[in-house]
Amino acid sequence: MSRRSGCSNFRMSEDVLNGKNQDMTTPSRDERFLGHIREAVRERRKGSHAIFDFSATVGENYESKRYGLMVTWALRDPFFPLSLFEKHYMGPSAETGLKTAALAQQLALFCRMFIRIRTDIDRYFHNSDVTCIDLDGDGDQDVFRDQWCSLCGVCCQLTGTVPDPPRPVRYPGYWYAWLAGDGPVLQKFCPFLFELPRKALYFCAIHHVKPETCRAYGREDCLKNHPGMARV
Ligand code: SF4
Ligand code: SF4
Repeated sequence: MSRRSGCSNFRMSEDVLNGKNQDMTTPSRDERFLGHIREAVRERRKGSHAIFDFSATVGENYESKRYGLMVTWALRDPFFPLSLFEKHYMGPSAETGLKTAALAQQLALFCRMFIRIRTDIDRYFHNSDVTCIDLDGDGDQDVFRDQWCSLCGVCCQLTGTVPDPPRPVRYPGYWYAWLAGDGPVLQKFCPFLFELPRKALYFCAIHHVKPETCRAYGREDCLKNHPGMARV
């Protein structure tokens, strides 16, 4: 495995840590939590997988250090879709209306889902050939781009899809519910949608065994429903 996991050189934003540009006041617990997530998104986009230890921050919002450590583990993964979490749960267009403690809970639950999916993808379908990205590789690997799909991920930011695997594939039992949007989180995007943060690309983590409904979604559907997203 070549996932990067160092954390020694992560440097929190001085503004966030010191409360600068915030009327010189100490950031509240809520501000610190949101600041940590946004900082992590920026660090991941720069290619830094050295992620601050979120355990204390998330733990104090979610009451459990164990969940904080789980978040830390997930955020170190090169394919964790943190920018989608920020966009859909924290961004200006987010409609969740969740307070920080609830946001932290959603993040912790989503991290637990991600880790479980990640583990079972390798167990049942093998990391190296289940999708167009080598899930044993790192976030800087070359991506096959000779195709019409731009890997923008927009069409997979939905609350659920039909969990109909291609024959003779069978999914782990819980995948059917999670694909359908019946997982433990308030679903805003498919939990099988992974991210390449540095390239700002998104890909289906089970592309070669994804549901028939997803396989049937073709270029014409994309052009009609998401004009401008496909490569010409
Ligand atoms: S919206 Fe179109 S271009 Fe973007 S990921 Fe979906 S199919 Fe590909
Ligand atoms: S299973 Fe894959 S293709 Fe289907 S919605 Fe989820 S991420 Fe998209």
